[in-house]
Amino acid sequence: MDFKQGFKKILQNRRISRLTIVITENKAIAVLSILFLVAGIVIIEYGLDRVTIPVSTEAPDEKSDTETTAPPLPEGDYSADYLAGEVKPDQGLFQAVMDMGISTDAALKVINVLRYNVELIAIRAGEKVWVKLTDGKTGISEFIYEPDSVVDHKVTLDTTTGEYVYSMTEEPTEFRYRVIEGTLEEGSSLNDTLLNSQVPPNLTGTVNGILQCKISFRTDAREGDIFKVLLRERYYGDEWIGGTVMYASYRGKRTGFHEAFRYSEDDPKSSYNAHYTPEGEALIHSGLRYPLDRLFIVSRYGMRVHPITGRRQMHYGVDYRARPGTKVHAVARGKVIVSSYDSISGNKIAIRHDDGSSSWYLHLQKRSVKKGQQVKTRQVIGTSGSTGRVEGPHLHFAFKNAKNQWMNPLKKRMIATPKLEGSRLEQLQAQVKDIRQRLKDIGENDAGPADTVTLTKRVE
Ligand SMILES: [Zn+2]
Repeated sequence: MDFKQGFKKILQNRRISRLTIVITENKAIAVLSILFLVAGIVIIEYGLDRVTIPVSTEAPDEKSDTETTAPPLPEGDYSADYLAGEVKPDQGLFQAVMDMGISTDAALKVINVLRYNVELIAIRAGEKVWVKLTDGKTGISEFIYEPDSVVDHKVTLDTTTGEYVYSMTEEPTEFRYRVIEGTLEEGSSLNDTLLNSQVPPNLTGTVNGILQCKISFRTDAREGDIFKVLLRERYYGDEWIGGTVMYASYRGKRTGFHEAFRYSEDDPKSSYNAHYTPEGEALIHSGLRYPLDRLFIVSRYGMRVHPITGRRQMHYGVDYRARPGTKVHAVARGKVIVSSYDSISGNKIAIRHDDGSSSWYLHLQKRSVKKGQQVKTRQVIGTSGSTGRVEGPHLHFAFKNAKNQWMNPLKKRMIATPKLEGSRLEQLQAQVKDIRQRLKDIGENDAGPADTVTLTKRVE
């Protein structure tokens, strides 16, 4: 992005005053733009495509090599009221807020409201935080988390109730569609060809991942093989925010012809949102089935600051937000080895699977299976709740490997279904038709990014 575009972007920002300092420094604009872009890629990829590539369900731990300095203090009317913060490499939101000199108690209060409304799993270095303190400077009256230049997540203290209230504002963005098609040349791979066509690495990875379910590129790709990819990319002005692979096909001498279509339900967090063949077959290697139909991660596996005790401790599972009473499914068939209650885990169930691994489900409202019982894959074993020591209703889902060691459940491959059926299959077929029509339209216009649709409603 050149200076002019950077300048334009800044002018488009509602908080012009906060970023004024940046305008004086060309380099700072470039750095900021890159950070926004990286944040955008990760957010959209993990938001829209997380379901389809199980190997990358967790944000990669690569470090930003961008030098981080203290963010500029806001100027003008805002400056007196707001403290500015920025997420540094390897930091979570909590650590970033601690660096701003906010008390642990005040920070946890707002972050606990925020993490039930925003999937903080994808937080990246460079993202911005603004804090307005209460008059006595002891608490937070307004907290703004700004993952990119489009979205603001706000947590505001309602002075009449004393409760924190979440709200979100968003700048209008638009979708642009892009077709990338071509023929493999001698010595090239689909991966390299896509990267050379300016397809971002995460989307290139998605294309490879879904096609690899049908094709062994290593042994069967040949010179002259034909591919076609349709991307839907989201823009804020000229700023690229993220993208989704809507379609991918491959026709090869040895591979035959294969097509993948993106299926999306109204709920952007549906576990069924993924890539399928036109017949509804999931394009993913076999895996566990998701324990819930809706996937919103409140807290992931690993070290964290405990939301109640404030202490740093290991979290041995992944917390999915779920309304009390939501059906919980067995991720694979097996034998129930635990179905009991204790004051910390609440109602809990554990299932030992055929390979000796086990899945664990905590804080349930209701348990509908007994110890010793055999359960089938996807069988409903109970409902989620908020029993035991919790700060809000969620399912704590954990996984032990065959050696009885806890492991990150997000490292396991998980799918909603191996094949769409009934109304879901019908919905897929309608979407397949739409995507084919769009491919045809773009082909006729012979235009790449010309075909755009304005988006006013947020797509998460
Ligand atoms: Zn948990």
